[in-house]
Amino acid sequence: MLFAYLAVFCGVILLLIWSSQSLLLNRIYSRIMLSRMDAAAGDLATICDSERAQRGAEVIAVNYQVGIAVFDLTDTGLGSRLLWAGGEGGSVLSRLTNAEYAELYAAASVSGSVTRTYSDRFDFAPSEVGGTLRPPLSITADAHRIVRVRLMETPSGNQIVVFLDAAMMPVGSAAGALQVEILLLSIVLVVGALCLAYVMSRRVVAPITRLTEKAGRLAGGHYDVSFAEESSYREIGELSATLDYAAGELSKVDGLQKELIANISHDLRTPLTMIIGYGEIMRDIEGENKPENVQVIIDEAKRLSGLVNDILQLSRYQAGCETLDISSFNLAEELQHTAASYGQMLEGRGFHFFVQVPGALPVTADRLRVQQVINNLVSNAVNYAGDSREIMLIGKQLADGYLRVEVVDHGEGIPPDKLADIWQRYYKVDAQHKRSVIGSGLGLSIVRGILELHHARYGVESRLGEGSRFWFELPPKQ
Ligand code: ADP
Repeated sequence: MLFAYLAVFCGVILLLIWSSQSLLLNRIYSRIMLSRMDAAAGDLATICDSERAQRGAEVIAVNYQVGIAVFDLTDTGLGSRLLWAGGEGGSVLSRLTNAEYAELYAAASVSGSVTRTYSDRFDFAPSEVGGTLRPPLSITADAHRIVRVRLMETPSGNQIVVFLDAAMMPVGSAAGALQVEILLLSIVLVVGALCLAYVMSRRVVAPITRLTEKAGRLAGGHYDVSFAEESSYREIGELSATLDYAAGELSKVDGLQKELIANISHDLRTPLTMIIGYGEIMRDIEGENKPENVQVIIDEAKRLSGLVNDILQLSRYQAGCETLDISSFNLAEELQHTAASYGQMLEGRGFHFFVQVPGALPVTADRLRVQQVINNLVSNAVNYAGDSREIMLIGKQLADGYLRVEVVDHGEGIPPDKLADIWQRYYKVDAQHKRSVIGSGLGLSIVRGILELHHARYGVESRLGEGSRFWFELPPKQ
């Protein structure tokens, strides 16, 4: 393919050279000839009045390599011949009859000048003029001679007619030499194109073919394929790096999907087992139909419904079809309210919630969703609080107007290399899935979805064994 392109390119270039050579060369050559003859005619007109005009004409004939015949004009037409130079030998001028001179003059007098081309073979067969045999011209068969006739005025105002004759060397012979040159050039170009195609196919096409083949393997689910390519072309290097990155990401997503299925099925199975177990106990064992047991079934069913809701919500965020219901509310109140309800819920388990907020923190945002963010962060803090069981909720206004919320725990913390990943869908620092104390387990990805919809800043600072500080900052006006 590459070679075909290069071949077409060479062909077009050669065609251009050929056509320009055959079309333009002739024209340029005759232009040059004509202007040379006009220059000679001009020179002749200037010297014509002087006494040494004949000598001057001979010099001009030699310099310009033309035959010269200059006539003066009478009322009836051509007068006497004033100057004559270089007109012997092969010149047409010595072979024209008076009638032909008169005819040329007549033609020139219409427009001021006339140009004729004579070919040796056809126009000047040996002929007898005035008793002497004129020899045929001795120039090469396909050479031409051109005769240019110009009406001029000498400096003293005399009207003269200048006949000039020059050999038009056949452009064909020069073109012949050029054709050989072009042929050689064509061969060089074709060989060059072949070499170039070979080099390019080795250095560009081959790596791309390899990359395509590897991409096919990647599409088939082989995420371990390596795209690394040794190439001096930056673009190919970049392409292979991008494909490597894509392969890495795909394998991550694949891993996460598998993990998701494992986690979700675990999360679904646990409450279902409990519901079935408790249901069977209540059906089969007399006296077990107690409100506590019914409550367990209700709790587990709620947990299931929460999980399903979270999965649906997350898929909506991912599809990008969620809109916000913006209103103004007091963020400080929200924090206090969350702390109070968690405090009540976890009363017997030794959790302490501290809230640090100014009196009012007015914010415009989607209230329910911001509540959900705070809930998810607090529920994570509870789940990963470890033995410390102290959780702090901080709310404040920053200098740039943003409203910052922090949820701080003194629990197990997150390893530094995992910090970036925890916002990923279904990511768990601990590969061993443990049943959340509260919440469904997709918490941080939902938090991230909501905060990004709000154009909020968010992040986490954490140290292993010392605890974590999850924070987000809502912009002043939505
Ligand atoms: P889940 O808590 O159900 O695993 P999340 O998306 O809420 O799901 O959190 C993702 C991961 O981030 C958790 O598995 C946990 O490893 C880590 N994580 C989240 N919050 C905390 C926290 N406060 N302390 C320590 N680790 C946390």
